[in-house]
This record gives sequence, C-alpha cells and structure tokens, in this order.
Amino acid sequence: MVMGIPGPSELDEVQQPAQEPERPGVRLREALSTLPAYVPGASGASPGVFKLSSNEVPYPPLPAVLAAIADAAEDINRYPQMYADRLTHAIAAHHDQVADRVLVGNGSVAVAELIIRAMCEPGDEVVYAWRSFEAYPILVQVAGGTSVQVPNTADGRHDLDAMAAAIGERTRMVIVCTPNNPTGATISHSELVAFLEKVPSDVMVLLDEAYVHFVRSEDPIDAFSLLPVYKNLVILRTFAKAYGLAGLRVGYAVGRRRLIRTLRTASTPFGVNAIAQAAALAAIEQDAAVGARVAAVVAERERVLGELRAQGWDDIGDPQGNFFWLPLGDAAGTFAADALAAGVTVRPFAGDGVRVTIGEPEANDIVLELTKRWVRGASSGNGADETGVGGSLQR
Ligand SMILES: *Cc1c(COP(=O)(O)O)cnc(C)c1O
Repeated sequence: MVMGIPGPSELDEVQQPAQEPERPGVRLREALSTLPAYVPGASGASPGVFKLSSNEVPYPPLPAVLAAIADAAEDINRYPQMYADRLTHAIAAHHDQVADRVLVGNGSVAVAELIIRAMCEPGDEVVYAWRSFEAYPILVQVAGGTSVQVPNTADGRHDLDAMAAAIGERTRMVIVCTPNNPTGATISHSELVAFLEKVPSDVMVLLDEAYVHFVRSEDPIDAFSLLPVYKNLVILRTFAKAYGLAGLRVGYAVGRRRLIRTLRTASTPFGVNAIAQAAALAAIEQDAAVGARVAAVVAERERVLGELRAQGWDDIGDPQGNFFWLPLGDAAGTFAADALAAGVTVRPFAGDGVRVTIGEPEANDIVLELTKRWVRGASSGNGADETGVGGSLQR
C-alpha cells in the first residue's frame, strides 16, 4: 500500500475516537453562518455551448497581452511588486490622476471587500440598491456590517431618492452600481451629482463602474471630474470586463489620497500576482484595440435590443452594459433551461429574471430565436392582442 495520505476511514478514526466524548470544534463568526450563496454563471463547459452567463467579453486575449503574460511567466520565482507600482502609475496616468489616488487589487471585488472591511464596525450599515451585484451582500455580511437594500424601480433602475432617504445614523457607505448588474440600467451624470449632494460628507459613495466602457447613453457619468468636489466618492473599476482579463483578477479603486493610502497599508501584501500585473499593464496600453472590441460589443447589443423590441419585449429598459435583463419573474429558471437546451448558458435569478450576456453574434442569434419562441408561447396562452404579439408575458 502507498504510504502517505490516509484514507477517509483512517482519518475518521483519528478524529473521532469512539471511547472519548466529542470535544467542541472551532467556531466561525456567527455572521458567516447565514451567508447568501454567490451563484457563479454556469460554466458552459460542454463543447458547443456558448457561455452568456458571466458578462465576459467573447474575444480571446489580445496578442500584446498574451506576450506580456508569457514574458512575466519567466520570472514567477520572484515576488511581484508589492503594491503593483508600475500598474498603479499606468492606471493613474490613464485617468490623469496621481498614483496616490489609485489602489489596485485582486479583482475589483477584492478591492470592494477591503474597502467595506475598512469602513464597517459591527452593525454599521451599507446602503445599496437591490437587485444589484450579488457580491455586495456577502462582502457586507462578512465584514460584520448590515446591508440596507433599497428596491429598484419597476424598470430596474436605482431609486436614488429612496437610497438617500435610507441613509441613517449607522450608515457608513452607499454602493452605487452603474450600469447596474444585472438590470443594465444606468444613472446619468446629473442624477449622480444630485445624489451626491444629498449624501452626508462622512458617508462614502462607492461607485461601481465595472461596465462603464459599454455606456453610450446621454449625459454619461464622468466620475473623475467629481473626485475633487466630493471627497467621499470612491470609483471602482475592473480589468475583467472591457479589458477581457476576467481570469486574471485585477481591479482598482480611485479616491482621495488619505483614504487610499490607509487602504493600501491595510491591503494584502503582494495582493496582485505578477502575471496579472503584467497583463493589465499591457492591456491598458492597448486602448485602440480594446476600444474596437468594446464598440463591436455595443453594436451587437444594439442589434440584439432592436430585435428584442421588434419581437415585443417592451420591458427590457435601456441596458448599457454588455448584457441585458429579461424580467421573467417565476419563469426565469424555465427560460434558462430552455436556453441551455438551445446551446447557451444564461444567468437566471429565481423568481426575478434572467441576465443574458452579449456574446458572439452566433450565440446572440440563438438567444433571439429563443426569445421569439417565448414571446409567441406567452401570447398564445395569454390572449394575444391584434398585433399577434402578447402584451404581457407570463410572470
Ligand atoms: C463583473 C463585476 C465586477 C468585476 O469584478 P472583478 O472582481 O474585478 O472581476 C465588479 N462589479 C460588478 C457590478 C460586476 O458585475
């Protein structure tokens, strides 16, 4: 028999001697016993299935990024720069900011985690819209904070008045997600300014702009222009979406110097790996190529949304990310199952709706075939109007 790792039965014997009374085990903090699960988008693992469930871009890495990765791989016996200095400076230059304002982390979720942990004493409140990014409730709860979720308006937008009204004595921060994941709704620049005017100066506003590159709306947010005015504003960005580096995990926050400096001190040393640093650095220099890819996704989004509206989907709002939202209510799971059968994975939120990523044109066409069938199915069972398109889908 091979020596070394004990089999399960041997382990059991070691851990639970039958003759001794069971001793108490280690205990995690109470807050961790009731965490909501983060359900990742289905992985589209089977060949021939398109993955439209995680809001990734469908393109392979840019050649310059792959070359930087190969280059960096040769030095992975060495630690990376502890605080990703070169990348930090490149990001700062890209946004016309000083490097002291930029904090890089292992994905923007990790940066958000650090910020929320740094902000919340037990019982402190974090206000955010709901439904929104499903990482937020987990991050707040693990940090010991309390989530205050403010329902979106009927068309999936943040209810900024209600969010401002939800700010109380214990509120330390508000998270604003625009375009909102999963509904795709955006906030305009003037709406954001009006909101910031209402938020007390000692309450942080964390502006999650993961999908900012895809926005083509009127009056888009120019968050960097607001940083000098609203010192409680922190901007959150990622390399996972438009830059196509989801698998490498790089994101960053930009905010006032004093805050960023302390957060950096509290961050994980060597928290961004060497390959991710090199790849993000290369990606940021590929502005034109990244921009072209984003433009292609946006064009495809507009094509898909146009088709959807022509099919009779009149309640999809004006999604501005690389995804759209079908408010299907209880039918969300059935739609997702139908989608998988048709060859695409989408992201259902039980009882609420389905988020569909804009992918390859071929994948989007599969989705459009499916949505057409669904509108027809709903209309036949639901009293179609004169146009032959059902006014309301079964919810
Ligand atoms: C995808 C996404 C992110 C990106 O997270 P990373 O950790 O950088 O991959 C952040 N916020 C929202 C709302 C997202 O949808």
